Amino acid sequence: MADEHPPENPPVVKVFGRTGSPSCYAVRDFLYRNDIRFEWVEIRTDDQARAIGLESAADDRLPVCVFSDGTRMEQPTIRSIAEKLGWFHDPSRSQYDLAIYGAGPAGLSAAVYGASEGLKTVVVERWAVGGQAGSSPKIENYLGFPQGISGAELAERAREQACRFGAEILIAREGIRGEFSAGKRVGYLSDGSRVVARAAICATGIDYYRLPVPDEQRLRGAGVYYGAGASEAALCVGHPVVVVGGGNSAAQATLHFSRYVPHVMLVVRGDSLKRTVSAYLIDRLYAANNVEVLTHTEVLALEGDQVLDAVVVKNNQTGEQRRIDTHWMFVCIGGAPRTEWAVEAGVRRDEAGYLLTGPDLLEKGVATEWPLERPPYYLETNVPGLFAAGDVRHGSVKRCASAVGEGAMAVTFVHRYLADG
Ligand SMILES: Cc1cc2nc3c(=O)[nH]c(=O)nc-3n(C[C@H](O)[C@H](O)[C@H](O)COP(=O)(O)OP(=O)(O)OC[C@H]3O[C@@H](n4cnc5c(N)ncnc54)[C@H](O)[C@@H]3O)c2cc1C
Repeated sequence: MADEHPPENPPVVKVFGRTGSPSCYAVRDFLYRNDIRFEWVEIRTDDQARAIGLESAADDRLPVCVFSDGTRMEQPTIRSIAEKLGWFHDPSRSQYDLAIYGAGPAGLSAAVYGASEGLKTVVVERWAVGGQAGSSPKIENYLGFPQGISGAELAERAREQACRFGAEILIAREGIRGEFSAGKRVGYLSDGSRVVARAAICATGIDYYRLPVPDEQRLRGAGVYYGAGASEAALCVGHPVVVVGGGNSAAQATLHFSRYVPHVMLVVRGDSLKRTVSAYLIDRLYAANNVEVLTHTEVLALEGDQVLDAVVVKNNQTGEQRRIDTHWMFVCIGGAPRTEWAVEAGVRRDEAGYLLTGPDLLEKGVATEWPLERPPYYLETNVPGLFAAGDVRHGSVKRCASAVGEGAMAVTFVHRYLADG
């Protein structure tokens, strides 16, 4: 996101709103992740609100989006923005060869390989392309990008590549239920539509764990954010930022904010980052003079009426508490898969909800709850023709490259499954 655009590269949409408003954040996040050029215009005063036809800065009609063709939307839904961008449409076919759920790195990779290898391919994504990676300000360990690449740019390139090969991507639609019969996988979507395919890949990744403190839900999107906050960094300029988490994504977020803000505090529950963060990130964290790493520390409470005003942390060794004045807290504490649909569909999961595939379905060399003579393919679930790839899969590595690799591999097994007849 940038506030100024050269004349030849104007923003696709201007977004007028208030920082600290969850609905304004949702719009910014959606546009950023989809790599749509937009200009954020903060509405602070009633005069500024009246200049765009509203009554006051507290007007419920914010955010207001004004597109380059003059279309104006007041408090738009994500679906209406996707529609305006031409990205929201019904499935064009009554049946596909391959349906992919989730457009993170695994799903996008499966889409590129599936479509390029001649499969009629559709991708269903409930939010924006890129998944978790889309929130990363800079991915530095993905092969072929020595200077790193932002997750949103990587996702946009992959989306374009998949579409060039003919994959259809349905944005802002969530798969909620599956029915699997011989040769037919039917996915039911939250808006009442359905997608029918001969084979399917589940690439729905993981959902962030929520921080277990009072007021978290009330302040979510109003100072409390999940992920590395790539869309927000430019808005935090001049303010202290708190990042919570002890893994690579928290370290990455901390370093990113350290370029924009005077002071970043990284709150880590454990005693050190050594076991959980890559060495190159640790070196940079300790080299940055505006980063403070608070080990043995947990978030105890959040303060703030309309927006976050302060975070209270506690040292779990000394019991000492500290109140940090901040309007910005980013939480990167990992996550878990949301695969409740699998229970009804008879798809096997582990205790944490990750989907079991291939060798993980074998007990003493024999596949359990598996209907065919042949053993399941490597990324196949116990439902023949339904595959899992990326972070949603039991035993997955939780890296972009491995998700991309599994997406590609899953397509190879889809071909074998379809050839089996
Ligand atoms: C902030 C951050 C920084 C990271 N940085 C790095 C890094 O530098 N290097 C690295 O290798 N890895 C990094 N990772 C990890 C990496 O991003 C993940 O391992 C990778 O994104 C997993 O890809 P995936 O496609 O399996 O799942 P996800 O990325 O989780 O994508 C899943 C997608 O499925 C969608 N979805 C979920 N449920 C449904 C449904 N029911 N219907 C339709 N769609 C659904 C989600 O909206 C999402 O878009 C980072 C992660 C984070 C959070």
